Amino acid sequence: MHPMQFKEIIGNKDLKDHLKQTITNDRISHAQMFLGSEGSGGLAMAIAYAQAVFCKSKVENDSCGTCPDCIRVSKLGHPDLHFSYPILLSQGTRVSDDFIVSWREIVKDSPYFGLDDWHNKIDAGNKQSTIAKDEAASIFKKISLKSFEGGYKILIIWLPEAMNISASNKLLKLIEEPPEKTLFLLVSQDQEQIITTIRSRTQIIKIPKPTEAEVSAYLLKKHNCTSEVAENVAHLSERNIALAERLLASGETASTHLDNFMTWMRLTYKRDISETVNLVDKIAKTGREEQKSFLKFCLQMFRQCIVGHYTGGALTVMTTQQAAFLKKFAPFINHKNIMQLTEMMEDAHYHIERNANPKIVFLDVSLKMFAQLKKKM
Ligand SMILES: [Zn+2]
Repeated sequence: MHPMQFKEIIGNKDLKDHLKQTITNDRISHAQMFLGSEGSGGLAMAIAYAQAVFCKSKVENDSCGTCPDCIRVSKLGHPDLHFSYPILLSQGTRVSDDFIVSWREIVKDSPYFGLDDWHNKIDAGNKQSTIAKDEAASIFKKISLKSFEGGYKILIIWLPEAMNISASNKLLKLIEEPPEKTLFLLVSQDQEQIITTIRSRTQIIKIPKPTEAEVSAYLLKKHNCTSEVAENVAHLSERNIALAERLLASGETASTHLDNFMTWMRLTYKRDISETVNLVDKIAKTGREEQKSFLKFCLQMFRQCIVGHYTGGALTVMTTQQAAFLKKFAPFINHKNIMQLTEMMEDAHYHIERNANPKIVFLDVSLKMFAQLKKKM
């Protein structure tokens, strides 16, 4: 995905041409709000804009992608490019830069991510993220300094609607009386939540969603899926690229998990020790996060066997073959063993998390399963 040139952004050709033109003609408005719903590409557009402003060897109005300025933007480490974004406040974390490592990772992974993805990335749980007064003070300091390169200083604020009122007021002052050669790029999904005084001082650039065909082509290229899946997901996500990528990721994982789950249950039911050992070896070779996610998936499957329906996002990709398996398998999970099975999976999860040897953990669960799966209703 990187470096971030306009030409790499999905769709919106006319808008990109317009933005490039404002840079070429040196008609850069000092405060702009890139406004679009989740997964439309507002952040990608703002980064491409910043890169084109910094680039000193532009090609056809776009940044070159290879000069030192472009490289530094693509690494999200340009000294005159700053980012503000919502964070979890705690004693150790007061400003956005405290999360810069996670920020760089998620943007490089895909600049189309949404707030849910960001919350997952920083393990936010149910906590609310915010842009608060310490961040506003930090912005003030960065913007007051002279630029390193003698050109523009650019601040990209992702989701300014997450600013609290005191941060908003500080930012307003800065936008009203900006130091020379300062550029504010606000990337918003909901302008209604931004104080009107800020809104009225920014130039609003609407970012429409890309077309279904554009989203589908992007998924096909980036995620190496079949064109059938790409088209299906582009359609299901209603052209929200963040959601499309989430669906794709959960679908891929779910189908691997489901395959492993089916094999595991078959083998333990048949008490086939040697094949069980082979499967355990295979699972043990995956990462700990995957192993934990697999155990959670098994738990979810057991519960669904009890309630008798297989809903939930993870199973939207289920094939008829897999559905047939679950129908036959469900009676083996019942009130006689659900408690033990649940406990076994939770125990295993606990031990994997604490770095126990995965081969031993999964083999131990398999042996216990031999006994549990005989308790048919
Ligand atoms: Zn360049």
